[in-house]
Amino acid sequence: MTVLLFRDDAYLRDAPGQVASLTDEGGIVLDQTIFYATSGGQPGDSGQLVWSGGTIRIATAIKGEGDTVILLPAEPAPLPPVGSPVMQHIDWDRRHRHMRVHTALHLLSVVIPMPVTGGSIGADKGRLDFDMAEPPEDKDALEETLNRLIACNFAVTQEWITEAELDANPTLVKTLSVRPPRGSGRVRLVRIGQGEDTADLQPCGGTHVANTSEIGRVTLGKIENKGKQNRRVTLLLS
Ligand SMILES: [Zn+2]
Repeated sequence: MTVLLFRDDAYLRDAPGQVASLTDEGGIVLDQTIFYATSGGQPGDSGQLVWSGGTIRIATAIKGEGDTVILLPAEPAPLPPVGSPVMQHIDWDRRHRHMRVHTALHLLSVVIPMPVTGGSIGADKGRLDFDMAEPPEDKDALEETLNRLIACNFAVTQEWITEAELDANPTLVKTLSVRPPRGSGRVRLVRIGQGEDTADLQPCGGTHVANTSEIGRVTLGKIENKGKQNRRVTLLLS
């Protein structure tokens, strides 16, 4: 498995690593990585690897077998040999925008407390699909509430529970389309706010800002009808 450095510290822009293996498709697996692998609607990170013999652009990262992360080169180029030490660098501006959008979407699921059936995260905007028959009535009021939550400057932290604890608290799971990351017997929870001032608490394997103040003001785009029980709500960073 690949050690997921971004999970404990989403602010790592650079880190060393060692090439553990190369895939048949020309992907690179490191022993540890700061590259988030595409999942949960959040795109994989781009960036580059540098080693004594060269440099290669990484277009994105995906999940491989056995909890590995596969880095996919942006163009055909010589790969670092297995065993070689590398420095990894992610495109930080893009990733930080993903973190802002991702964290804002958690809060969107707070102001629209309906089951989430899908979602997508980009560098400028993100969206959630909600299982709801009627569109929200007052978009401007939702936008104001969302921005008020963001402006609370909530700390965003992670904690771990066992799978049995999650099963005993099924209401923690709001996002039906993305199953909580499981496997190791424990589940990562992401908490926005603290103690009695917790605004959101749900299982998530993504990358988040450390404080909601980093999100800045957001605007809501038009609310789309994507089926009789599906409303798509888009938010945009300013
Ligand atoms: Zn999340």
